[in-house]
Amino acid sequence: MLELKNVHKSFGRNEVLKGVDISVEKGDVVVILGPSGSGKTTLLRSINFLEKADKGTIVFGDIEAKLENASKHDIRAIRKKSAFVFQNYNLFHNRTALQNVTEGLIVARKVPKAEAVEKARKALDKVGLSDRYDYYPSQLSGGQQQRVGIARAIAVNPDVILFDEPTSALDPELIGEVLNVMKELAKEGTTMIVVTHEMTFAQEVANKVIFMDGGVVVEEGPPGEIFTRPKEERTKQFLRRII
Ligand code: ATP
Repeated sequence: MLELKNVHKSFGRNEVLKGVDISVEKGDVVVILGPSGSGKTTLLRSINFLEKADKGTIVFGDIEAKLENASKHDIRAIRKKSAFVFQNYNLFHNRTALQNVTEGLIVARKVPKAEAVEKARKALDKVGLSDRYDYYPSQLSGGQQQRVGIARAIAVNPDVILFDEPTSALDPELIGEVLNVMKELAKEGTTMIVVTHEMTFAQEVANKVIFMDGGVVVEEGPPGEIFTRPKEERTKQFLRRII
């Protein structure tokens, strides 16, 4: 369903992605692991052109495009197929939870307002915020704000949801509520790519784990393999440090 081939990206002289290939099937929950600075976030952002890669190919459903010079039309079409959940939620502070979810539907996807409100309510209900429609971000906990972020992603009914360290800004006691929502989505067959340091989530929920280091994919496979019998020394070292 989604393939990235030979993705390269540098920031100045810092070569962050050095020819990354990944492949995602419908219904996959892919967790990307790796040490800080290994390029996980940059890779994720390249998928929906939040970051413009220097080189590489994306095949997303029926669209194939070069990452470095995709047409506006292709970029728009690819962006429509995905939704991004940010580490710091990226909510509009002067809009309510409901308005944060309707905004993208109305502005980017041209959904009529009444329909957008209905979709937004459903999405907020799904993440357990049916009693918070009219709350502003400042009136919500970090966990609730991130659940609004997830509702915003669900509401557009994307082919894949891209999660960039969705729980790393949260106090420990709020992490569980966000991971539980993500687990529910996974159970329902939502295709997800998740950059996270939450090893338990990776072990329990992912069907594919990709370990990145130094801008390359070092190893990938089902969590049972990666966590219990990693083949590569770099994976072994990383897991020893983190688990
Ligand atoms: P972390 O787990 O710490 O978030 P990561 O594996 O997600 O790390 P990236 O965030 O992709 O890594 O960053 C990879 C490298 O690219 C880092 O050295 C980072 O400083 C650099 N980098 C990322 N974004 C930019 C940017 N906009 N401008 C310059 N350098 C950047």
